[in-house]
Amino acid sequence: MALKKKIQTEEIKTIPPENILELRKLLLERKTRVHEQQISTLSHLDEQVLENRETPSSRGDEADASVNDTSADYFYLLSTNQQNELNQIESALDRMNRGIYGICENCEESISLERLKSLPYARFCVDCQAERERKKLSVSPKT
Ligand SMILES: [Zn+2]
Repeated sequence: MALKKKIQTEEIKTIPPENILELRKLLLERKTRVHEQQISTLSHLDEQVLENRETPSSRGDEADASVNDTSADYFYLLSTNQQNELNQIESALDRMNRGIYGICENCEESISLERLKSLPYARFCVDCQAERERKKLSVSPKT
């Protein structure tokens, strides 16, 4: 049984359903993974904060104390980045539910499938993303 594989790419405005399913799976897997990482990060962060509090002047090793400070900062930054990524994943899943997934929020052209597969929560097409990075604009998201 031969499948008709002739796809008119120019006519495709939205992501085909089978690719949506695949990308949704990618997003959900990523969400689970980042969520687990975040739990681990937060537990590290708790440890660091507790250690610093419980032993405010651990005379043992001063180098250790500064390492603790650094890693608390590091884990704090890490958890912020992870939260940020989770928010982006959630927003991508939301766009999927509303049927506007894969459409550039700036120029409303479709984002290439290739780009979405490497970055499933991409909000902008390659051109607009490059443009934004060039201008370094911090435009607040439209709601
Ligand atoms: Zn665009």
